[in-house]
Amino acid sequence: MQIFATKGDITSCGFVGAIVNAANNSLLGGGGVDSAIHAAAGPQLLKECRALHGCETGKAKITDSYDLWENCKYIIHTVGPIWNGGHCDEEELLYSCYTESLLLAMQHKLYSVAFPSISTGAYHFPLKQAAQIAVKAVHDFDRKYPHTIERVFWVLRDERTHQAYFDAISEIIKPCNIDDIIGFHLPTEPYGFLSNWYPAEFNSVGQHFTSSEQYMMYEKVRQAREFDLAERILQTDDPSEAQKLAGPSSFTTFDSISDFWDKHRKTIVKRGVRAKFAQNPELLRKLLDTGNAVLVECARKDTNWGIGINFCDPAWHDVHRWNGDNLLGVLLMELREEFRHELALWGTVQASDYKESAPNAAWNMFAGQLKRNPVYYTAIQCYADQLKSEDEKNSFYYGGCLYDWEIAMRTNMGGGLPISGFYEMKQEVYEIYRRQSVR
Ligand code: ADP
Repeated sequence: MQIFATKGDITSCGFVGAIVNAANNSLLGGGGVDSAIHAAAGPQLLKECRALHGCETGKAKITDSYDLWENCKYIIHTVGPIWNGGHCDEEELLYSCYTESLLLAMQHKLYSVAFPSISTGAYHFPLKQAAQIAVKAVHDFDRKYPHTIERVFWVLRDERTHQAYFDAISEIIKPCNIDDIIGFHLPTEPYGFLSNWYPAEFNSVGQHFTSSEQYMMYEKVRQAREFDLAERILQTDDPSEAQKLAGPSSFTTFDSISDFWDKHRKTIVKRGVRAKFAQNPELLRKLLDTGNAVLVECARKDTNWGIGINFCDPAWHDVHRWNGDNLLGVLLMELREEFRHELALWGTVQASDYKESAPNAAWNMFAGQLKRNPVYYTAIQCYADQLKSEDEKNSFYYGGCLYDWEIAMRTNMGGGLPISGFYEMKQEVYEIYRRQSVR
């Protein structure tokens, strides 16, 4: 489990499985964080809470997140003890608030939970003591039920509270050592399935690929609008051949895209590697089975994707001797986290398969309309921000249906549309649409 203390407003934290409310026995709303959560979740929350008929101190109950659904799937309401000099089991009750909340989260297969500082506001529990009990409760839970809740956050409003939780975390949870480290290089060597050269069939960006290396090379030349070369890369199943075709000697525009490629390659490659794992359940299982190990691509010549040290040189075990950025390792670790998160929340992972998927109703909307829709706004805005020329921006505002744009891109008629970001935007729109239809 990873444990964090961050400063902020719990009603606008990034997406977690559940946020916890420091409620009172009535569960009908109160002051402080309780009122902020009710205000943000909307009146339906109060309606559901009414039907729960209150909650005892030290216990917890769970509800839908209503208008907070973009931040969390559920709200867990727990009732902290009122400080009474420490004579009324306050410590045990506070400890129990955390345990009971996490048990509920576990029963709902949640992966991450955000807490406020329970009982230290209107209920006057001494801050330092509360933080220590809180961290200890969460830490004990993790030892008792390992690999269930993977991330716990405290989202704390003021600096003093933040400092107290930060101190408690440093004191109670010793800094972790990297004792689990997995190196990989050739597809035929141990953990070879992590390599981009490993044979794996998947669909992405409207094409079929036989390895993530082929995908990566295809995308690289496509960013340079070298569509003939892209076609030739699709024709080969040999990753080394694909690499050669996308090499600097193959096309004259190589230099002109190298800045762009350096900046966006991780996002672009991650999209393909995600598809590789999402569409091959056996590989996904193996990736998840690497647990929390640090993944390291051991390639001497590669100081971007790898660490610049060969697999046969034991120096790769020593982080201080790495000469490269290990981008592939980092990207795989990020994906592993994301997959776990998605599995915990949705029971499935995003397949990222654009080849077969029929366009949904939202995707058939006109680009300008979609951009003005507040629900899709963030995804669309990110893409629109990348559009450099005014013409493109205007066509985005008033112009065609996004589905037509996609067809244009797939058939190399994309004109001046930047490819980068387009598929991420589409995936986002699909996801939002899917989540809405689930609800
Ligand atoms: P309690 O009644 O359990 O003491 P309070 O809501 O009064 O709960 O206070 C708990 C803590 O939550 C306090 O540190 C308070 O500053 C903090 N808090 C209030 N609003 C928010 C919010 N929107 N996000 C995160 N923390 C908040």
